[in-house]
Amino acid sequence: MITLKEFRIAVRDIVSFLYASGDLSSETFQNVSALEGTKAHQYVQSHYTSEDQSEISISLMYEKNDYLLYLNGRMDGLIRQENIYVLDEIKSTRKNIFDETFTYNLEHLAQLKFYAYMYMKNEQLTDMEGRITYIQISDYKTRYFNFTFYLRDLEAFINDSIEEYLEWISIIEHYQRQKFDSIETLSFPFDTYRRGQREMMAAVYQTIKDKDILYAIAPTGIGKTMASLFSSIKALDNDRQKIFYTTAKTQGKTIALDAINLLKDKGLTIKALEITAKDTTCFLEKRNCDPNVCPFAKGFFDRLKDATIDIFSNEDILDRQTIESYAKKHEICPFEYSLYVSYFVDIIICDYNYVFDPRVHLVRYFDEFNYQPLLLVDEAHNMIQRSRDMYSATIFKSDLIKLRRLGSKLKPSIKHAIKKVLDALTVYEDRLTYAYFLSDKDIDETVYDTIRNLLTKIENSLKENSKYNNKTQILDIYFTFLAFVKIYEYYGETYLTNIYKDRDEDLIVELRCLDASKYILDTLENKAYGSTFFSATLHPIEYYKKLISQDVGETLKIKSPFPPEHLNLVLYNSVSTRYKDRDNSLDEVIKIIKETVQAKKGNYIAFFPSYQYLNQVYEKLSSDDIEIMLQEKDMGHFERHQTIDTFRSNSETSRLGLFVMGGMFSEGIDYIGDMLSGVIVVGVGLPMINELNNQLKDYYDQAFNKGFDYAYQYPGMNKVIQAVGRVIRTENDKGVAILIDDRFDTSYYRKLFPIEWKSYNRISSIKNLKKALSEFWKINQK
Ligand code: SF4
Repeated sequence: MITLKEFRIAVRDIVSFLYASGDLSSETFQNVSALEGTKAHQYVQSHYTSEDQSEISISLMYEKNDYLLYLNGRMDGLIRQENIYVLDEIKSTRKNIFDETFTYNLEHLAQLKFYAYMYMKNEQLTDMEGRITYIQISDYKTRYFNFTFYLRDLEAFINDSIEEYLEWISIIEHYQRQKFDSIETLSFPFDTYRRGQREMMAAVYQTIKDKDILYAIAPTGIGKTMASLFSSIKALDNDRQKIFYTTAKTQGKTIALDAINLLKDKGLTIKALEITAKDTTCFLEKRNCDPNVCPFAKGFFDRLKDATIDIFSNEDILDRQTIESYAKKHEICPFEYSLYVSYFVDIIICDYNYVFDPRVHLVRYFDEFNYQPLLLVDEAHNMIQRSRDMYSATIFKSDLIKLRRLGSKLKPSIKHAIKKVLDALTVYEDRLTYAYFLSDKDIDETVYDTIRNLLTKIENSLKENSKYNNKTQILDIYFTFLAFVKIYEYYGETYLTNIYKDRDEDLIVELRCLDASKYILDTLENKAYGSTFFSATLHPIEYYKKLISQDVGETLKIKSPFPPEHLNLVLYNSVSTRYKDRDNSLDEVIKIIKETVQAKKGNYIAFFPSYQYLNQVYEKLSSDDIEIMLQEKDMGHFERHQTIDTFRSNSETSRLGLFVMGGMFSEGIDYIGDMLSGVIVVGVGLPMINELNNQLKDYYDQAFNKGFDYAYQYPGMNKVIQAVGRVIRTENDKGVAILIDDRFDTSYYRKLFPIEWKSYNRISSIKNLKKALSEFWKINQK
């Protein structure tokens, strides 16, 4: 007896693989968000009668060759018309559906045919009616395309489609088998575990098995990337699961890819994909996704299938370089290609926003029952700020003025629509005559309505003038306003509307989310199948748990594997770096920095809370025997790499970097061994006191009675802990960390110290500092 190979397939996957065709434009410009789509669907369904049904799950077992396929999907509607049922497939669009060139999409028709076939088989019918309902997002007008289906005709269509799809399935199935076999025999890639590594692995594994949420303090040196990936891979037990390794930095992606490559060398078969931001990976010098301009957008879907089969059959690690090389080979857009290929891989390495940002998240994995996302969130201390940003949006008045100029040759209706928005904004401008910063609980509905109207006018106008010269610049502005409208959908009690002017007197309207934990928790509880947030600096862990996922989740605190005596931590407690005391304490701060650097030749970093403070010190810090490097505002990646390389090279003298806390030199860099002998942290890292931070303070006061702590103190201390964390990166590293400010030596701050900061020296004079450093280096000098 032949054993059939069972496969679960979503109808949408088959039809998009086989029947998608044409240019990329419809996927980019016409993109409808998940929320907009759902609302439009619901609008159509709200007109159904009580005899009609909506959102009906459908499945069918289909045997073909030696496969038993479990076809499944969800029909939008089943409408009762006299004695028959009409199958309804609803599609929302930004296109003008009444345009004479508009017609139904072959992929949509194929989906309807599949559902009709499955329904007829299940209900033993020989024919049935079906329709595709297109609904315009701009005004919710609908247009129907009606069809009559006969089972005997559809038999052939379904059979041919599945025949063709099975070629692809057999490649996937072969891979899946290899993957699960290799996972079963996969052993940990090192001879020994680092201290705390096993503990973390067990916790991540259990979190996935229990579909739970975990917050883990995972100090540097325990091998957290390998621990989280290895246990997630080991927990894989069905092909619907996908591991999302999310991170805030490119460096984090590289480390994850290195770990997967190592496992691959040890015999693991797995497909992993790195998603690179659109602007970074774009092949054009200046991004212009218009298929009339970009050859990689033109006919994208016509070449996508071959490109997918090619890369899937030949590669396992689909990093940026690999994606770009196959995209070039098949002449398709690398970014959209990577998104499509993600359907078929097991590990997706990407920025947080592809999972959590409602405007860009990979909808399919988080809104459909066909996938089970397993989330690993690296450097999770960034998530509080990032989650607020992901649910906030801003518009600038200057964009409207620019738009008026760029669209001057388009229909006059655009000019009128811009004027309406500008008129609506006048209310804000008038109020700003008497205040420099306004904050409202609600947004003025007129502003919102006029922006929506403007978006529709732009969409229609560009459709009619698809080759318009300024289309790309107009689209850039369009997307900013579209993001604003999309975020408005979430506007609620944790939001404020801020209105102010920048230095150039440009009017800014911002929908500011003060707390996105409700939305993040929704993703974790209702869409993910186990989520682990980890970082070396989740101190105090309850704060992160509360502000990321409303206090829901387990916690794990792992101790640092490094001997605590390798770090000489000094609380220099006789200096105040408070703003009002800075002038008076400047000389003392400079003396401390010099004393630290001169105690032993090496590389040092002094971290400051602001550029202003940094420059103040720089201007007075003269020394012939120290090479000084300065962080400047707007430094790019190139300068960053150059500076880090300088730290790697040999030098006759000591080097001192003057950097800002929380900046590009304070996170995500491993200053290993002699690269760094010590850091001097000037001040407690408080964020700047201003209206925006005070809004957070007021909100946290009201919500948790912890205003100053949550808005200022905790984020500040996180930067301090990150800065100190640069010193000891391996078990052989030894170094000093001098924390300058009397506040560090108070219980209010000491309670936030990580557990490994148990022993520290309290020092209040240069003489004692000199002595302490000399003793430390005498013992620890190589
Ligand atoms: S290659 Fe660049 S311009 Fe072309 S579609 Fe992709 S992102 Fe757009």
